[in-house]
Amino acid sequence: MVTTTRPRRVPTKIVRMSFSNPSPSDATPRTSNFLRQIIESDLEKGTYASRHWAGSPGDAAHHAAGHPDTARIRTRFPPEPNGYLHVGHAKSICLNFGLARDYAGICHLRFDDTNPEKEDVEYVNSIVDAIRWLGFEWNGVKDAAPYQASDYFDFMYRAAERLIEMGHAYVDEQTAEEMRANRGDFGQPGVDSPCRNRTPAENLARFREMRDGKHADGSMVLRARIDMASPNINMRDPAIYRIRRATHHNTGDKWCIYPMYTYAHPIEDALEQITHSICTLEFEDQRPFYDWLLEHLCEGGLLASPPPHQYEFARLNLTYVITSKRKLAQLVNEKKVAGWDDPRMPTIVGLRRRGYTPESLQLFAERIGVTKADSWIDYSTLEGCLREDLETKAHRAMAVLNPVKLTLINWDDVMGVGHLEPCTQSALPHPPEGVEAPARHFTIGKEVWIDREDFEEVPPKGYKRLFPGNKVRLKGGYVIECTGCIKDINGVITDVLATVVPDTKSGTPGSETVKVKAAITWVGVADGIQAEVRMYDRLFLDAQPDAGGKEFLDLLNPNSLKVVTAIVEPSLASALPDQKFQFERHGYFVADRVDHVTGSKAVFNLAVGLKDSWGK
Ligand code: ATP
Ligand code: MG
Repeated sequence: MVTTTRPRRVPTKIVRMSFSNPSPSDATPRTSNFLRQIIESDLEKGTYASRHWAGSPGDAAHHAAGHPDTARIRTRFPPEPNGYLHVGHAKSICLNFGLARDYAGICHLRFDDTNPEKEDVEYVNSIVDAIRWLGFEWNGVKDAAPYQASDYFDFMYRAAERLIEMGHAYVDEQTAEEMRANRGDFGQPGVDSPCRNRTPAENLARFREMRDGKHADGSMVLRARIDMASPNINMRDPAIYRIRRATHHNTGDKWCIYPMYTYAHPIEDALEQITHSICTLEFEDQRPFYDWLLEHLCEGGLLASPPPHQYEFARLNLTYVITSKRKLAQLVNEKKVAGWDDPRMPTIVGLRRRGYTPESLQLFAERIGVTKADSWIDYSTLEGCLREDLETKAHRAMAVLNPVKLTLINWDDVMGVGHLEPCTQSALPHPPEGVEAPARHFTIGKEVWIDREDFEEVPPKGYKRLFPGNKVRLKGGYVIECTGCIKDINGVITDVLATVVPDTKSGTPGSETVKVKAAITWVGVADGIQAEVRMYDRLFLDAQPDAGGKEFLDLLNPNSLKVVTAIVEPSLASALPDQKFQFERHGYFVADRVDHVTGSKAVFNLAVGLKDSWGK
């Protein structure tokens, strides 16, 4: 059978994890895990201490001529440039780069571009940007060019010839159907191909013909010669080279045969002197072939010893989220979202526009840890990490998301006609050490905007905000006492009315003598600015939109985006795209690119609410 892609994920049992007691982000402890234990044990035993490194990837002779490797371990992140990276990749990036950082090693960025049809330079660039944004550098040199698996095609070809010479590979001319039928299944051993016992010389001649374009696409493949009766079906003479007339973005039309992923990947690792090759669990059944291949190529003197070793960990499954590039592409192509960087997308570019920080994603990766059993992580864990990171960093600001006007009916009398009183508040109530919190300036006058929800004509039980006869503080301003409201002919409230209590301005002596039970946020009519605020919610209604054969496109949340016109305080006029804020009492927001179609308004995206409220 010819598989051109990697093994598919199998459904796994669901274990729920919850983190009720998060640790502070600035002192995130590096919890041990099975990979750390393996690395520590290898370092102690000196498993890889004798390795040489020639400064660039290469075969045994190349590295033998180099120096003892100063990197104590080498890990790698090997994306296929066929889509944008998502939160699952972020886990893998933080894991591989994090291990290299913690054990004085180097992590490689390698584009796994052995499949000629699917790659695109748009994806290559976005992957480079995403990793850099997450805070990592690759290949041990600043601004190094990433490695490319397609640069190893010559070696892969040479290795294939060597396997043939050693009697470990043969050209098979069975049809795809015959090969599939003859592979057997779990209960049934496979049947040898009639081509299996050709001589190395015959196989070499055929393989060279394949390379030289003498045979049609799909007419024959090169197979490893292992064991057609192996209980592991992946060991029943897997295909390692196929004929495919396709132009490759790196090598052009040089090749009409391409290596299979399962053959290419171990070789890529070995040429790069990777020590710990960490991948997701679905590759576990491939490990025997990984070892088989590298063992024979080391034996044949082509690759340096000791070869890399593969370890598997559980991929990230996040509730309410899809982490399949193919399905994410479907959301984009079918215009269910506005693009790869739509703030509802779990892509790194999407998370970034949603307000996620590199630190919050690193914290998330650290907190969920690595295990050998598949599990589902609750979406609230991710949100909690962002909240935790922004708590001390995001500047505070006031915003009124659902505005109604409040008129202070005695203002002109007690403060003076048209008077605007300047107010000052700190942008950071609890600044991190060594950070000086900037001050925010705004004014209060006769008219201010408040949130509609902060007034009730007839207050429900326990309601502490504005209702006739009640006093509240306008945060950072004055205490006011509500007197009533004005409604239009439809009964919709157009104005809330109140009186200002003199001498209660926040921060002035005696301001606390009038006691109130609540402080509400507000923005002055005189200096508030209009902003478009995009209130995002989860993209799917189902916690596992991708599981059990469900049609994920039918499970989209119709209310995942609501756009409101808000009034925000004047300090936000200078907000730069990507800057995060806490809109007091509302949540964390990030300034977005201004949409010139809708004018020069400021635009903010909801990153995460102040409390975990979803589903409650
Ligand atoms: P997809 O299924 O979305 O196409 P992939 O695994 O094919 O993902 P690659 O570009 O090959 O995507 O992934 C690069 C690395 O990221 C691999 O080592 C892979 O194991 C890892 N990775 C991908 N998805 C996840 C995930 N959900 N959790 C953890 N690691 C992941
Ligand atoms: Mg893939």
